[in-house]
Amino acid sequence: MNASAEGLNRFLAAARPSATYKVMDRVAARRASGSAVISLSAGEPDFNTPGHVCDAGIAAICAGHTRYTQVAGLRALREAIAAKFQRENGLDVDWRDTLVCSGGKQVIFNALAATLNEGDEVIVPAPYWVSYPEVVQLCGAQSVIVSCDAGSGFKLTADALQAAITPRTRWLILNSPSNPTGAVYSRAELQALAEVLLAHPQVLVLSDDIYEHLIFDNLEFFTIAQVEPRLRGRVLTMNGVSKAYAMTGWRIGFGAGPGWLVEAMEKLQGQQTSGASTISQYAALAALTGPRDFIEHSREAFQRRRDLLVQQINQAPGLHCAVPQGAFYVFASCEDLLGKTTPSGVRLDSDEAVVNALLDEKGVATVHGSAFGLGPYIRIAYALDDESLLRACAAIQDFCRTLTN
Ligand code: GLU
Repeated sequence: MNASAEGLNRFLAAARPSATYKVMDRVAARRASGSAVISLSAGEPDFNTPGHVCDAGIAAICAGHTRYTQVAGLRALREAIAAKFQRENGLDVDWRDTLVCSGGKQVIFNALAATLNEGDEVIVPAPYWVSYPEVVQLCGAQSVIVSCDAGSGFKLTADALQAAITPRTRWLILNSPSNPTGAVYSRAELQALAEVLLAHPQVLVLSDDIYEHLIFDNLEFFTIAQVEPRLRGRVLTMNGVSKAYAMTGWRIGFGAGPGWLVEAMEKLQGQQTSGASTISQYAALAALTGPRDFIEHSREAFQRRRDLLVQQINQAPGLHCAVPQGAFYVFASCEDLLGKTTPSGVRLDSDEAVVNALLDEKGVATVHGSAFGLGPYIRIAYALDDESLLRACAAIQDFCRTLTN
């Protein structure tokens, strides 16, 4: 065979590129060509990283902390991560059972790549974050997608979990608050899932808690290892500083789990990135050990924006959404727009067509729900200032009003 794309790894060849990054790339290309775009696509806080965290990064550079750390991360940071899990989640974690990675995505990748073999199954409740099934695919395993519609609040029920488990099930992926729906699992809901899992000791659980602090209406956050301590020997609790401290570009994620798993993930990482950026690790240490007022301020801002967006979207004819309880996404049904035609003659036959037309004709970027495993929906990220959000909502309403049958 000649050197060509035909020789690509077959698991990679069958995987789809990240749908969120594809939209972000389209936004960047349109902006580069001079078009104005209001982006409600990227899931990242619009705030700047807190000053004391930036200062810690700068101080790390100036102090010469510019060399490798241990593969699993700086000991001080791993201790701060263990303390965070204890303080915020009631999890008794030994710092040796933590691992620092280059973003939350690498925690997930390491965990799945370290454990999955061909033919293994991973239960992925849908709507899901776009990368879960693709990482499973890259590992040569099989996603078992369990559809969780609006009727169940987009959440996995114990019965649906029970029905999806087979002897090949290796992992269940949970994500609360959820990207893309903002759904939050209560203690009772997690307990019901845990009861099912207790009967299936072969199943590991990946709890993606990256939106932990973006939770509204005074709801309390729970994670499954906290709710059911008997599962602790097989839960990887994953988190990071990206969403809580507006640090997406610093690329620091972390996880805590059983020693054998963390060790395997460390072995993989040691042959891959060698570990996360040293400078970013010092910044993350400052974030986890410093003042917490930033978290409160951003939570308040996001809750206000959520209320604004939900109200505005429900006023757009043909769109409707429930009130999400966390994260910074609204997942709006666009079913009533399908079959209609835009003023420039584009027929909307899928949620992707809606998203494309909204970008092309109104300069508003969103992501289609089917990329998250449930259509016809659009995911609208509200990590943007109020004024831009209002302008985007006016454009979306106008878009909906000018469609014809
Ligand atoms: N998690 C964010 C999102 O869903 C960032 C992009 C990505 O990594 O998918 O938009």
